[in-house]
Amino acid sequence: MYEHLKEKVAIVTGSASGIGESVAVRFGQEKMKVVVNYRSKQEDASKVVKKIQEHGGEAIAIQADISKEEDVKRLVEAAHTSFGTLDVMVNNAGIQSEVSSHEMSLDEWNKVISVNLSGTFLCCREAISYMLKHGVKGSIINMSSVHDIIPWPHFVHYASSKGGIKMMTETLALEYAPKGIRVNAIGPGAINTPINAEKFSDPGVKAGVEKLIPMGYIAEAEEIASVAAWLASNESKYVTGITLYADGGMTLYPSFQAGKG
Ligand code: NAD
Repeated sequence: MYEHLKEKVAIVTGSASGIGESVAVRFGQEKMKVVVNYRSKQEDASKVVKKIQEHGGEAIAIQADISKEEDVKRLVEAAHTSFGTLDVMVNNAGIQSEVSSHEMSLDEWNKVISVNLSGTFLCCREAISYMLKHGVKGSIINMSSVHDIIPWPHFVHYASSKGGIKMMTETLALEYAPKGIRVNAIGPGAINTPINAEKFSDPGVKAGVEKLIPMGYIAEAEEIASVAAWLASNESKYVTGITLYADGGMTLYPSFQAGKG
């Protein structure tokens, strides 16, 4: 636990499920004030709000599609109206779909890019504008992926969006470091969440993924939430522009593990 996170105000996008939910609940354990953002699952978002409150934090649920400019503006305003400021912005919402690249329609490409890349940009922009206007030395955390550096066949839109997030994070970190606003990313490896529940329900596929992880297991969302809490806290106050890979070693070229490369 990080004592100084108490009563800090955070928005976590896409926090009605998966990693976002775990980050929001962890922030609740830190006794923070959390805006739980959801796109369509109001009931799930309400459950997350309840969990946060049970841990002693404060929370509200706000519907917003982060690929829409007006929705993102409304989301940031909601933090101000409900809790008076915005200290931490976690841009977690993301989508993926499996399509061979030569068959990918422009619509399919745009769908993923508009949420993962443009949506993350809009959230960064609005959070930074707010922090500049109100003199907040805040922390922005973008949920990237190991696929910002590991190529991923059949997911070219997703990998391109995450690669873009990496450079977006570095550029914004450089631009706003003099103002005390930190911008970092987390690169999760394989995590047990709804986004890949179907894939991991096949024991053969699951075992194949585990082989790509030197530590040998697929992580739980809480293992990413603890990284987010650290990046949100003052314990990381000199850290900006990084992508912190929480991936059990997936980015370490696991096929070289036997040392016979
Ligand atoms: P998830 O599907 O549970 O979470 C994604 C959330 O984003 C959902 O709640 C969804 O409703 C929300 N969302 C989607 N589009 C939205 C929009 N336009 N506006 C608002 N909310 C929207 O899956 P997850 O694994 O928890 O994914 C969270 C993030 O972590 C994503 O950015 C994903 O790319 C990233 N990630 C996940 C893994 C993994 O193995 N699970 C690995 C690397 C990166």
